[in-house]
Amino acid sequence: MTVRRTAIVTGSTSGIGLAIAHALAAEGCNVVVNSFSDTPQDHAIAEAIAKEHPGEAVYIKADMSNAFECRALVERAAEKFGSVDILVNNAGIQHVAPVEEFPVEKWDAIIAINLTSAFHTIAAAVPLMKKAGGGRIVNIASAHGLIASPFKSAYVSAKHGIMGLTKTVALELARDKITCNAICPGYVLTPLVEAQIPDQMKAHGMDRETVIREVMLDRQPTKEFVTVEEIAAAVSFLCSPAAAQINGTHISVDGGWTAE
Ligand code: NAD
Repeated sequence: MTVRRTAIVTGSTSGIGLAIAHALAAEGCNVVVNSFSDTPQDHAIAEAIAKEHPGEAVYIKADMSNAFECRALVERAAEKFGSVDILVNNAGIQHVAPVEEFPVEKWDAIIAINLTSAFHTIAAAVPLMKKAGGGRIVNIASAHGLIASPFKSAYVSAKHGIMGLTKTVALELARDKITCNAICPGYVLTPLVEAQIPDQMKAHGMDRETVIREVMLDRQPTKEFVTVEEIAAAVSFLCSPAAAQINGTHISVDGGWTAE
């Protein structure tokens, strides 16, 4: 009988998370697809993944801005599949504004979804991973976990925070065969990036093409967007046996942006 690992990917109905869910399902994992919306389309995404790949896939609704729901997501995944072997903290939102005008509710939501949710899911998953004798935790950080850009105070703060969480968790669990690492993508053309183009146009006083060329890809030396599949492949690698000694660090997938 094939023993399938169970993977939870938070925020996986779109963009990078969706590609990660597909990649881990292709590796033979049972996959938990998550978002906060609980629509028929969300469930259809999980059904499509299950149809295409060897393992099972289910959709579980959980709002990553809510501590209880973050922890319940992990518990429900374990109830469904019997274990949680891989946890990918991917859910994230963005808002672009000068710091003195940054809406407080946007700050709170970004810190909750992009940082605090990972604390809750990790706290809930670690006892299960310890019991199972190991596990993999991958946090989708950002190039903005390493360096800053103007007008992104909350996002840059949350992403720097998750880098600290990644290292701390790695040290705490190193003897438990549980690794914790981060991926730091550069610009990937997903709905999250599409949505910030109008704000960037406003903040910089530029048209769409100029924002893409001079604000986004200006700092990405390849002058190309990273693809969601390239991020997913890095996650698959961190979850493979070959990555057992990679712990408490990050893989930049940013076309060389943070090499400067
Ligand atoms: P996206 O907007 O395409 O997808 C975000 C996902 O998160 C969606 O499935 C959405 O439903 C989910 N989500 C949002 N709020 C949620 C909540 N409260 N509870 C549960 N789920 C929620 O975004 P993306 O570009 O794929 O980003 C995914 C991750 O990658 C984020 O953490 C983002 O910061 C990071 N990232 C993206 C880029 C990029 O250029 N796109 C670059 C660096 C890092």
